[in-house]
Amino acid sequence: MGLSGLDIFKKLPKTNCKECGFPTCLAFAMKLAAGQANLDDCPYVTDEVRAELAEAAAPPIRGVTVGVGDEAFKVGEELVLFRHEKTFFNPTVLGVLVSDDMEEARVDQLLKQAKECVHERVGVILKVGAVAVKCASGDAGKFKALVEKVKGATSKPLILMAEDVEAMKAALEVAADSRPLLYAATEANVEAMGALAKEKDLPLAVKADDLDKLAELSEKLTGMGLKDLVLDPSPRTPRETFKDLVAIRRAALNQKFAPFGFPTITFPCEETDDELYETALAAMYICKYGGIVILSHAEQWRMYPLLVLVLNIYTDPQRPMAVDSKFYEIGNPDENSPVLVTTNFSLTYFIVSGEIEGSKIPAWLGVVDVDGQSVLTAWAAGKFVPETIAKFINTSGIADKVKHRKLIIPGYVAQISGELEEELPDWEIVIGTREAADIPAFLRQFSTT
Ligand code: SF4
Repeated sequence: MGLSGLDIFKKLPKTNCKECGFPTCLAFAMKLAAGQANLDDCPYVTDEVRAELAEAAAPPIRGVTVGVGDEAFKVGEELVLFRHEKTFFNPTVLGVLVSDDMEEARVDQLLKQAKECVHERVGVILKVGAVAVKCASGDAGKFKALVEKVKGATSKPLILMAEDVEAMKAALEVAADSRPLLYAATEANVEAMGALAKEKDLPLAVKADDLDKLAELSEKLTGMGLKDLVLDPSPRTPRETFKDLVAIRRAALNQKFAPFGFPTITFPCEETDDELYETALAAMYICKYGGIVILSHAEQWRMYPLLVLVLNIYTDPQRPMAVDSKFYEIGNPDENSPVLVTTNFSLTYFIVSGEIEGSKIPAWLGVVDVDGQSVLTAWAAGKFVPETIAKFINTSGIADKVKHRKLIIPGYVAQISGELEEELPDWEIVIGTREAADIPAFLRQFSTT
């Protein structure tokens, strides 16, 4: 790359507008040079400069996309070792393994688990992200038939597992158009598997049982022109896998070691037969740099905690989780239903909407954009204030949806009711409850008045 922070700074707009999250263009340039920032965070870089800085701005760990359409996922593009240094970007993908030596009923059961494992938490959908299809029989026809069956049953991205290049070719006859991850190039097949991935323009996993060999294979494949690689250190013992995942991430970020500048894949399902231990290993690989983690099944008891762990680790600690600012319809409200407002902090929204739902009284819940802060914090920061709330109400269209003009505000901001009434002269401001838990009783009482 060769561009210093100062070289990059000279090409930036130098307005110090802070929109990139850094206080100055110089600070952003320095972080960019260190591989700890993303050029896309500055919206004012021209296309010409963007192209010039592309190499310097490329993340030290390449982003690799697997699959097509809405279910496609991207792993990699991480910039830091620890989330508190900035954030992690592309969440670990949890996949489930089926193989062509399994009973058909077991395959069906695993595919059903993968399909049905969907959870919504603070507005985010958590789900199984991939299906790994393994050629365990050594029979190319059997493998191809299973790949075809899985592809017909799910639109989740596929990971095709066959070290025999002919078996992989057979599977690609039915699955190449879904951009599967090919697994894997090894010391024994690297030329042929690399050529196949290049010809089909598909991402390729590379595995070796020690890091030196892994680096060698990665270099060889990039030398062949392959760009989208996924690394499997593959020792298949938890201790070694853990050490290798950490070493790969450190080498990529701290030493800018190009052969390890790719996301990783791990297989806790192949490191133990004990389901609980496998789940614990998956948790460890989620925490320490596993880009894709493949499991032996997707039963709810293990998936829910693992998916929530992924959500927690890949949530930006510097940005509160927020929901869209708009009016939400809770329980089919009509023109007589109560109108409430709150802030767009996810937890506030989900707690308040949950209590309204629990009250069984349909209502309109307006969510004001206050950068994802809770009610009291936003009020103290001058964001959840009469002018902002009035602007939201006046532009939301709620006045056309209800006949009455009563607006319920959170009890914690009772002190703004007078000023808000001045801002919204057509509305009567009603002071609601301080605690969300009191909303059902309040609404029941409110609806009878
Ligand atoms: Fe400078 Fe761009 Fe950051 Fe604004 S967003 S401070 S122009 S680098």
